[in-house]
Amino acid sequence: VLRVSALGRTFGDTKVLEGVSFSLEHGERLAVLGRSGSGKTTLLRLIAGLESPTEGDIVIAGKVASRTGQVLIVPERREVALVFQGLALFPNLRALDQIAFATRGRGGVEAARSLLDRVGLRHRAKARLDELSGGERQRIALARALAQKPRLLLMDEPFASLDDEKRTEMRDLLRSLIGSAETTLILVTHSRDDAFDLARRVIVLEHGRPVADDMLETLLIHPRHAAAVRALGLGE
Ligand code: ATP
Repeated sequence: VLRVSALGRTFGDTKVLEGVSFSLEHGERLAVLGRSGSGKTTLLRLIAGLESPTEGDIVIAGKVASRTGQVLIVPERREVALVFQGLALFPNLRALDQIAFATRGRGGVEAARSLLDRVGLRHRAKARLDELSGGERQRIALARALAQKPRLLLMDEPFASLDDEKRTEMRDLLRSLIGSAETTLILVTHSRDDAFDLARRVIVLEHGRPVADDMLETLLIHPRHAAAVRALGLGE
């Protein structure tokens, strides 16, 4: 589904990402861990096509989507959905319409209604954004992302603003939704629990460079790099 080769991004004099290479097969679940500022969000923005790389290329479904200095396939055409903490929901739309916006041409309002049902918010269809709780907003954002039937779902700290109980609920919901659709997932997180619950493979970034890329089980048995151990909270 995705191949990232020798990817790099510089802002001014700062190399934010350097030498990032990996491939993801259909249905794979990858967690990207790393300290604040290690380049995780930048990596997702590059894959989504919101920025161009200063080095390297990104191939999505066999097509070169970005290469050095160029975005060849615009974000809307990548079939990649990005869910981030800020959510980017529309303030004036009702819950159902937020999702229906993404199901235009893909089953319309009926498809939106069914997704709303699947995220457990059928009874909130008419609620406006300011009438929804943080957790409900997360569910709407997730439903809207899935409504796009993305090849690749990118999530940037999606549950950071939720309390532990809501977080667990959202993880369970996400797991069941992507499990049935075999969605390929890249999850950026600071939470070890998110990584363990949702991913099988982990990449750890340190100062923009990948310092580990392993299956979770492998990292647990043979921690190859101190950063990976720290990122997973295993060394504490
Ligand atoms: P966090 O966990 O805090 O979200 P992160 O690992 O996602 O951090 P990025 O958001 O990718 O890190 O940022 C990596 C570095 O790149 C930071 O030092 C940031 O200030 C810098 N950076 C990101 N975007 C830009 C930009 N558009 N212009 C200049 N610098 C940027």
